[in-house]
Amino acid sequence: MLKIETAKNIGFCFGVERAVKIVENVLSTEKNGYVTGDLIHNEEEMKRLEKMGLKSFDLKEKWPNLLDSTVVIRAHGIPMQVSRTLEKSAKKVVDATCPVVSRVASLLQREREKGFELFLYGRNGHAEVEYLKSTVDHLEVLNWQNFQISFSAEKIALFSQTTMDIDGFKEMAKAFLNSRDFFSTFHIHNTICSVTMEREEEVKRLSRSNDLCLIVGGRKSSNTKKLYEIAKRLNENAYMISNASEIQKNWFESVKSVGICSGTSTPLRTIEDIVERLRNFKN
Ligand code: SF4
Repeated sequence: MLKIETAKNIGFCFGVERAVKIVENVLSTEKNGYVTGDLIHNEEEMKRLEKMGLKSFDLKEKWPNLLDSTVVIRAHGIPMQVSRTLEKSAKKVVDATCPVVSRVASLLQREREKGFELFLYGRNGHAEVEYLKSTVDHLEVLNWQNFQISFSAEKIALFSQTTMDIDGFKEMAKAFLNSRDFFSTFHIHNTICSVTMEREEEVKRLSRSNDLCLIVGGRKSSNTKKLYEIAKRLNENAYMISNASEIQKNWFESVKSVGICSGTSTPLRTIEDIVERLRNFKN
């Protein structure tokens, strides 16, 4: 019999759950409901909401006429200047930006007011990073591809995009500390979301203690990809899937135990389908 172990923290995180509830509420009370791009990076959940009437548009393309529509801002935010234009174009704008992300924006502003030069461990182009960049006058984004420390202020503050990996953030903080002769004050703000940190730990544990590890989430979800990369480093039998139909029987030929974890935008019912499929073909 196949032993199936699911992570303690699985399914939607509270920020995604909150955003989905906001959209469901808009769809039940308003005539037209739009979202700016994908509300969350999960194709199946987006399809479910579209069936309920949700429409989406790309902020970089021509916008539809929004005068009689309510527009929901996605969970990881949109640039401030775009949300101001949206306020003028739509009947109503509802902000579903996760409070954890809004808190990072407030911290950035506070440190900027105190004269700190600001750095963010993150990925340029990610929705959250574009939002955070719009909230302060200058935010330098660093990752391991373009990593080069260069600064001019005496006071430095380092932050992280909420969905980045903790090991990479620690390495980056260490790299700054190696240059400490050149600045007087260094503030390290670990702004990685605790939900994603807990999932990283769970994935490490599940990958080590099971023969095979499944990471469940949408193809566009950066936190799902991050979890998969961690799992793959620790267990060569790690696979990223978005739903039960992608499971291949031959993965399980000599496998006695499987660990399952998910990205933060994966609905619980997708996990339940996967567990059921595994039980059916292996037991
Ligand atoms: S992963 Fe964290 S920051 Fe992102 S939506 Fe979920 S709770 Fe908010």
